[in-house]
Amino acid sequence: MNRQELFQTIFPDAPSYRWRQVEQGLFAGKWNNWDEATVLPAAMRAKVGEQIPWTAYRDAQVFESASHDTFKALLKLDDGRAVETVLMANARSGWTVCVSTQVGCAMACIFCATGHMGFRRNLTRDEITDQYRFWQDYLKERRGLGRITNMVLMGMGEPLANMDEVQAALHTWLTSTPLGPTRITVSTVGLLTPLEHILKDPGWPRVRMAVSLHSAVRGTHARLVPTGPENFLPKIQDWARRYVRRHGNRRHHLTFEYVMLKGINDSLEEAEALARFTLPIGRVRINLIPYNAIPREAIESSLPAQIRNFADHLKERGLQVTLRKTMGDDIQAACGQLVTGVLKPLDKSESRAL
Ligand code: SF4
Repeated sequence: MNRQELFQTIFPDAPSYRWRQVEQGLFAGKWNNWDEATVLPAAMRAKVGEQIPWTAYRDAQVFESASHDTFKALLKLDDGRAVETVLMANARSGWTVCVSTQVGCAMACIFCATGHMGFRRNLTRDEITDQYRFWQDYLKERRGLGRITNMVLMGMGEPLANMDEVQAALHTWLTSTPLGPTRITVSTVGLLTPLEHILKDPGWPRVRMAVSLHSAVRGTHARLVPTGPENFLPKIQDWARRYVRRHGNRRHHLTFEYVMLKGINDSLEEAEALARFTLPIGRVRINLIPYNAIPREAIESSLPAQIRNFADHLKERGLQVTLRKTMGDDIQAACGQLVTGVLKPLDKSESRAL
């Protein structure tokens, strides 16, 4: 049972504003425990403290990058499993949280450490939303570091394979934190059925969407994302065209993520295929991601000169291109490196109870 269901079970006759008070108090970050929830009557507060866990995690281990701009936390869950979440400094002088939505992942992308773990289980809405609370508390304890300004659902797992819990988590953040929909990005490998649902469901919040494409050439895409369906590329192109027509504007763009892999998807032929794929869609952004090495895979990142040539070709074709800065690779917190169970001991780590 999640926190809200527990609350409603304990207090079936409580007016709905009581739960809103609880949720807003939890995400405002001012309470340190239930005793401080003085917005609730004392008797109610006592029952909440006895019966509703303060957080969805038992304890956490935090790793800090040498450049002090990236932190990774290994959060221990109630069932003994663990999940990773990352905090990164961003260009707004704030912090971006990279959120996990599953323990492991079934999508098996060959360049991704989480994909090699396989799927273990979905995270609950509380386990997803509390990654925000965890980092908010962490920043509060280190006064002067600033606040969370952005969230990206790009950590462990495929968010759209855990649609109900992710949708509930998005609503919680949008109603109980200062973050608006353009500050939250959901990244998907391109699950077509949930993507159709997103187009049709008025209840899906208008957060930004990113599709991890990695190649617009059928054979290359099938190699990189072996779980993709037949005819994936024309299907996702069709979806993207409809999505951009319906929701695209200056503030709400669709992004295609593209991890740059040496000798696999970084040729100018691949760049041209990507240009031909994206140009008919409309206003999109292409985000090139230097590959971060993981154990077990003899794959290398494209050389910087090759990434530049690739980007230049796309720009010459009129596309908007960004290059993701690699952060936290020294603590295995960079894109594609999140995994639980194979962490190397690191010097700059600390443990703390929640
Ligand atoms: S890249 Fe994303 S979708 Fe692919 S295996 Fe890793 S976590 Fe899953």
